[in-house]
Amino acid sequence: MDSTQWFTEEWAEQGSAISLKTVQILHSEQSPFQRIDIWETETFGTLMTLDGLVMVTSRDNFIYHEMLSHPALYAHENPQSVLIIGGGDCGTLREVLRHKEVQHAVQVELDERVTRVAEIYFPELCASNHDPRARFHFLDGIQWLKDAPDESYDVILIDSTDPVGPAEGLFAEEFYAQCHRALRVGGVLAGQTESPLFHLPILQRVHRSLKAVGFAAIKTLQFPQCTYPSGWWSVTMAQKSGDLQLIRSENPAHWNDIETRYYTPEIHRAAMALPRYVTRVLAEQPPTT
Ligand code: SAM
Repeated sequence: MDSTQWFTEEWAEQGSAISLKTVQILHSEQSPFQRIDIWETETFGTLMTLDGLVMVTSRDNFIYHEMLSHPALYAHENPQSVLIIGGGDCGTLREVLRHKEVQHAVQVELDERVTRVAEIYFPELCASNHDPRARFHFLDGIQWLKDAPDESYDVILIDSTDPVGPAEGLFAEEFYAQCHRALRVGGVLAGQTESPLFHLPILQRVHRSLKAVGFAAIKTLQFPQCTYPSGWWSVTMAQKSGDLQLIRSENPAHWNDIETRYYTPEIHRAAMALPRYVTRVLAEQPPTT
């Protein structure tokens, strides 16, 4: 019998799944919020799953973390104050802190155990955790935004799990309204918004909610992410009184001031080009109530 073990994440409603060859399981625990498993894989490095769903692998997390953080930060004139909701593996925080304009990066992650486990098994993602600009709060991001003062952030990044359980409210119109209120003029929000192939109704609902709460410009960026459902993922950005046209990294003064592996100004522009079937659905007017 083949001694090779496989980790499989099934997407039952889609009739498909992903499997990664594993060498051994390195850690397993039940936190107060979810099951956290860490695997050593044959070709994807270390794998973290939460409640059996892929969160990060050593091999391909750079695509997601760069595409969640850099388009939003480079779309802002001067991103000094950044809030990250979720992001417990700290890969997004690391990317944010590579921007010298950032003076404060506050991470509000519900489950402290995710960060403590990441510090052991993904030290490269946690490399900036001791940066004096970083602040950690292990709280519910929904409550954090409810309590946030008006116009307190330049950028809000929502690096959450799927819209179920504690993360469901991070995709709700009320939450986006709080984000809009907590952003300064010209502020930019960016959140992971699932797969354009498997989850288009979610993407449509996010666009409608962001528009309903007053964001002036809303743009979805799409990119490959082979370990997430369908292998194709998205981030949706929105700007408070701005048009999301600025791409500061196109300015020669900013070229290569951050050594990225996936993000480039060309990728920033190209990622905003969406397939016709997606733009059609996003352009549909919501039913009149
Ligand atoms: N890249 C992953 C993805 O796209 O699914 C997300 C990675 S990150 C580990 C997701 C984090 O969101 C988890 O650590 C989870 O604990 C956190 N989270 C879920 N709901 C939350 C909430 N209401 N407030 C703060 N963090 C939350």
